[in-house]
Amino acid sequence: MANNILVFIEQRDGKILPASFQLLTLAGDLAASTGGQAEACLVGSSVDGLTQSVAEGGAKKTYVVDDAELAMYRAMPYTAAVCAVIAEAAPKIVLVPTSAMGRDLAARVAARQRAALAIDCTEVSLDGDDLLATKPMYAGKLTGKFSLSGSRLQIATIRSNAYKAAEPQSGASADVVKVALSLSDADKRLKIKEIAATSSGVKDVTEADVVVSGGRSMKSEDNFKQLYELAELLDGAVGASRAACDAGYQPHSRQVGLTGKVVTPVLYIACGIDGAIQHLAGMRGSKVIVAINTKKDAPIFNVSTYGCVCDLFELVPLLTEEIRRLKG
Ligand SMILES: Cc1cc2nc3c(=O)[nH]c(=O)nc-3n(C[C@H](O)[C@H](O)[C@H](O)COP(=O)(O)OP(=O)(O)OC[C@H]3O[C@@H](n4cnc5c(N)ncnc54)[C@H](O)[C@@H]3O)c2cc1C
Repeated sequence: MANNILVFIEQRDGKILPASFQLLTLAGDLAASTGGQAEACLVGSSVDGLTQSVAEGGAKKTYVVDDAELAMYRAMPYTAAVCAVIAEAAPKIVLVPTSAMGRDLAARVAARQRAALAIDCTEVSLDGDDLLATKPMYAGKLTGKFSLSGSRLQIATIRSNAYKAAEPQSGASADVVKVALSLSDADKRLKIKEIAATSSGVKDVTEADVVVSGGRSMKSEDNFKQLYELAELLDGAVGASRAACDAGYQPHSRQVGLTGKVVTPVLYIACGIDGAIQHLAGMRGSKVIVAINTKKDAPIFNVSTYGCVCDLFELVPLLTEEIRRLKG
């Protein structure tokens, strides 16, 4: 086993998930103490064009599995591809973004590799050969610390924005190693017939650095347009509480929380959201939280960095106007 740290580069339609670059920086830092280097695992179809930005993101070597079978994410072919890279690269640790794809993939790869696995970590460090992983548990009520034995492959999925990506090193280069894909009949059995996009062109809450969320108090789908306007100015995404989704103001794909999506943006703006424990489970890891609520003892204020006790329908338009003015 080499001392290198391998990062799974998540890409869809040729667009790399920003969290992948955060993990390349983390891998570089960890590799400094293992005496190895940060390496990347790039899987997809026609992804050769992405190797330069992966090198500029800090990978010293990039393993590429490029095959038409990998054009869209499917668990079995992707698992086979990542396992083929692991066989070639023999890394000490594999880092994967905590995303729908990352959670699915990491668990399957770990099972095939008999690896130690920690999902949804907010922090990882090394204690000798062992990987120490910190992760929120029980809807964020407590933090668990786990030690993954260095006697076997260690795999960790890491939340978006838990680590900062270094500035890209323009012109950096990395060795590129092509790895062939070999699929069994079972790997190919599940086919995608059709993908019906529900929100084309609109950023997903898990991918944005800024999330503007609305609660039941938004009162209608139409009123959510104000949040879309603000989110667009901040290059962000719109989220919602379960109450807002259940009321039909937003699709459930935008729900943040225990039974929705977990987000860790740089900025989370909660508009008229009470702060039930199930909602907090999905957003309390955000770097800066701004809460707008008319009720001064709303639980959301217990986790907020900035609290605004006022009517969202008064503040949101003012905020939007001011940001538009500042942006010229
Ligand atoms: C098993 C389970 C799983 C759940 N999973 C989730 C989940 O994933 N995500 C989730 O969000 N919830 C989840 N819930 C529901 C959760 O318990 C709450 O019911 C829900 O989060 C409440 O949504 P809300 O804050 O929008 O609504 P409310 O509780 O109705 O709060 C509305 C808030 O808006 C404020 N307000 C009203 N008018 C204004 C105004 N004009 N300006 C500013 N503020 C205003 C009020 O003061 C209040 O604080 C789950 C519940 C269960 C039991």
